[in-house]
Amino acid sequence: AVPIAVTGGMSRASRAGVVVRDGAALELLGGARSLLLDKTGTVTAGRPEVTDVLCAPDTTTEQALGLAAAVERYSPHVLAEAVVRAARRAGVAPPSADDVTEEPGRGVEGRVGDRLVQVGTRPTGEELPHWAATALRRGRLDLATVVWLTVDRVPAAALLVRDRIRADAPRTMRRLHASGVARIVLLTGDRSGSADEVAAMLGLDEVQAGADPAAKIARVGRERERGTVVMVGDGINDAPALAAADVGIALGSRGSTAAAQAADAVIVDDRIARLADAMDIARRTRRVAV
Ligand code: ADP
Ligand code: MG
Repeated sequence: AVPIAVTGGMSRASRAGVVVRDGAALELLGGARSLLLDKTGTVTAGRPEVTDVLCAPDTTTEQALGLAAAVERYSPHVLAEAVVRAARRAGVAPPSADDVTEEPGRGVEGRVGDRLVQVGTRPTGEELPHWAATALRRGRLDLATVVWLTVDRVPAAALLVRDRIRADAPRTMRRLHASGVARIVLLTGDRSGSADEVAAMLGLDEVQAGADPAAKIARVGRERERGTVVMVGDGINDAPALAAADVGIALGSRGSTAAAQAADAVIVDDRIARLADAMDIARRTRRVAV
């Protein structure tokens, strides 16, 4: 039987906009020591915009946006939506693409005519091309995610995509710390520059950048050795880590169904402050129940 305090806690959480799957999840949430947070779409607003397009000497902005949008059209990622919007705004009609595939936490690729087009994180092991090094050094990167376009494995453009931190995120982080969460870790697939800036603005305790879905699972595993771990994320790339955590929480009405299915709790109205509300309710429930 589920104690009355726990069912009461669950219905209070649900009225506060957090649907918790079962009483066990609520009790674990109340005892959480570490909180792992995805960045893009979770602590950031999830409505990024392309603000700059840096191109290789033989590529125009229109070509870059067209090729990138040609494959990003097929991706549900928030960065992909930003790229498609930027192309549309520039009046560029993307060419058609075939065989488009997505690798969560990395990006998308496909064929445009006889060319292989890849959009996402920078290919590892390659040197930063001269045109990009110069431009990236000159431009202020603040909070920008760099989305690379490569054509036949040669970098053709770097699209700077900027998102905003959610307005209620800083206060939510302070509330979580105050309620007894000892460590809050930003766990993101993005590059470390952007991740560090976000973590500093939010007063988080640690950052792990460049984490693909497998690295996110591994981090959850390591944190669990110290105590109860809550993971919060919105994307398909977070789903395995949400499932691996003691309590996985999916954020957002825009959050992917994969994330919601893997999670033990869902924040239904896309507001991160709900996380602190749910934590307060879970802690109170625990005090009553034990
Ligand atoms: P986060 O962990 O911060 O939510 P993701 O794991 O979804 O971020 O993505 C990590 C990185 O992979 C992004 O910062 C981006 O560089 C790249 N990426 C993933 N998917 C895409 C995509 N569809 N288009 C462009 N870049 C992508
Ligand atoms: Mg995300």
